[in-house]
Amino acid sequence: MMTSPLLGLTYFRGRVALSAILKAMNIAQGDQVAIQAFTCVAVPEGVIATGARPLYIDIEPMGFNMDADDLLKKLTPETKAIVVQHTFGIPADMERIMQIADQRNIPVIEDCCHTLISTYNGRTVGSFGVGGFYSFEWGKPIIAGVGGSVVINDPELKNKIENQYTLYRFPPLLRRFRLFAQYQFHRLIYRPSLYWPVRSLYKKLSSLGMAEGNFNPIENGGYKDFSLRMAKHTQKVLISKIRKLEEYTTHSRWTVSEYCSRINSPAVSHPKISNDADIVFARYPLVSKNKSQLLERAHRSNVEVADWFRTPIHPLGKDQWPLVHYEANSCPNAETMAKQVITLPTNIRVKKRYIDRTVSFLNNL
Ligand SMILES: *Cc1c(COP(=O)(O)O)cnc(C)c1O
Repeated sequence: MMTSPLLGLTYFRGRVALSAILKAMNIAQGDQVAIQAFTCVAVPEGVIATGARPLYIDIEPMGFNMDADDLLKKLTPETKAIVVQHTFGIPADMERIMQIADQRNIPVIEDCCHTLISTYNGRTVGSFGVGGFYSFEWGKPIIAGVGGSVVINDPELKNKIENQYTLYRFPPLLRRFRLFAQYQFHRLIYRPSLYWPVRSLYKKLSSLGMAEGNFNPIENGGYKDFSLRMAKHTQKVLISKIRKLEEYTTHSRWTVSEYCSRINSPAVSHPKISNDADIVFARYPLVSKNKSQLLERAHRSNVEVADWFRTPIHPLGKDQWPLVHYEANSCPNAETMAKQVITLPTNIRVKKRYIDRTVSFLNNL
């Protein structure tokens, strides 16, 4: 078993973990934090919670991660941190990004929410920057309900964030209960063949306030509880799941190798993978020119195909972008990719028979 840094400091969500790192770095109003577009609203929310502003960097053309050239172009003297996301588990171009960051003396934080153990040039993600953060909600490689954690590499920063941690409270009882019930429900019910019905039920329940939703209406200020730590029962689940990480990883690798070798539909294209990386995918991305039609058909055929990231700041629509300071057309690659990407599950409940179904669905499009 790996001795896991993931159990360091645990927070109520990944975005809370990110804001905790930024706060420990004294990032505040007037500062900018560079993040990539083609991300989850959790990331800009974590930045905005400190008073700072997100500076959106485009992704590589036809890629999923931060474009080092665009980063170089957009950095300003106000940029006080760079958050590098390893989207779907694919490591970002850490060599160039670290070089740029080191030259300007800007600390790098790694968003490892989609992978715990992918490596880049033989080094595990999360070990390049001053620190990284993780998420354990429903769409992530390890699901513990909701939750996040940090791993800090810089000793001084580590000390600061540990001191700050005493200010973080456990979630209130009712919220803990709701989370526990929701986790048990998910554990019992989720399998890829129930993806679509579970998804719509979950949306209904969270709009009624009966489930811990992934997203809070951004018009009302979005997610607010940036001072909560992870509930104890969630920690227990997390510990038991981290013990199974090797099993999950083996399964994910097998699933992806099946998708890679068997999906040959002209309707989708596979991601280009660099030789520098050993990837453990949270989900396996494909690019499609007919995304909405494909999703509709997948829904009808009851095949799990997810649409994230659906927009450059998932799941925000264009009219909501100003609320997180994203300017339309400022990251064209991200906007294009959001219109074309679909993802397939790699989790432990994806069995051979289900892969057969997914492959035949895609190859018969
Ligand atoms: C899920 C996710 C997060 C954090 O999400 P929380 O819901 O706050 O745990 C951060 N970054 C990315 C890229 C994510 O997909």
